[in-house]
Amino acid sequence: IKKIGVFTSGGDSPGMNAAIRAVVRTCAYLKVDCVGIYRGYQGMIEADFKPMDARSVNNIINKGGTILKSARCDDFRTAEGRKKAYDNLIAEGIDALVVIGGDGSFTGAMVFNKEYDFPIIGIPGTIDNDIFGTSNTLGFDTATNTVVEIIDKIRDTASSHNRLFFVEVMGRDVGHIALNVGVGAGAEEILIPEENLGLERLLESLKRSKKSGKSSSIVVVAEGDKTGENVFELKDYVEKHLPIYDVRVSVLGHLQRGGAPSCFDRVLASRMGVKAVESLLEGKSNFMVGIQNNEITLTPISKAIKGHTKIDKELIRVSDIMTT
Ligand code: ADP
Repeated sequence: IKKIGVFTSGGDSPGMNAAIRAVVRTCAYLKVDCVGIYRGYQGMIEADFKPMDARSVNNIINKGGTILKSARCDDFRTAEGRKKAYDNLIAEGIDALVVIGGDGSFTGAMVFNKEYDFPIIGIPGTIDNDIFGTSNTLGFDTATNTVVEIIDKIRDTASSHNRLFFVEVMGRDVGHIALNVGVGAGAEEILIPEENLGLERLLESLKRSKKSGKSSSIVVVAEGDKTGENVFELKDYVEKHLPIYDVRVSVLGHLQRGGAPSCFDRVLASRMGVKAVESLLEGKSNFMVGIQNNEITLTPISKAIKGHTKIDKELIRVSDIMTT
């Protein structure tokens, strides 16, 4: 392996820059050339490349988003698109890739690897924490910290006005962000797609908490939750059946995806970047770097994208106890 291409793809997440930096610096350390590929697979198809050395990644460890930009690219789903990408990589002398992204990006990498036997290692970058083979994806820790901070602020208003707040958080079709911030911010209820509580039981629970003397409440709702059609329907339902509550909705949206990465995500990104480059130089391919029990591990990409991480049952139990 003489020249490694690194790119970010799919949704951005805090810690992607720290991972780019780690890949570039490890290449410099091990005396392998490194090329940044802009806008993910789109830039591969358009030959949007830039050689990177240790100094190209100064002052980015603390930045959210990705300096290499990210994109979704439909052309890469076609054989012609991938052929173009392959020809461009060969013309540039790139002989291995590090992809930083989510399961969609990994699927693309796997398809490409199968067609061209191109060495690829993945680094999981998504705030959703929905990838098998790692207890943490890059950005999850930062996003949960961001959300907890905001819910703390919402709580000030909730308790001052005796209000009930439904707070919708990101996570696509999984509830990891919701469950963690729910416990971390002391939510009254946490609605996640993995466990459908049902509208009736939500109502019962809110009634109980009102009886027990609580005057305000925070209910964290994962965006993929199906208890109601959406979070506004939940508000209408509760207002109709439990008029004692003044209900508000807050949909947090994209502020959850940005911001400076936490120390945890920066350290994780650094460790993953080193492992990714070292693995390629050891001749490994088609693996994703992960962290399990604080050890940096490799999982076949095929496994990483198939199995979703399971929701933490122990955390659900803890949450149940905390809301007594
Ligand atoms: P994420 O990596 O965050 O899950 P996406 O699901 O949008 O993001 O995937 C990112 C990109 O990966 C897509 O825009 C596409 O270019 C590529 N990709 C995803 N699935 C495939 C596939 N089955 N074949 C080829 N490329 C794919």
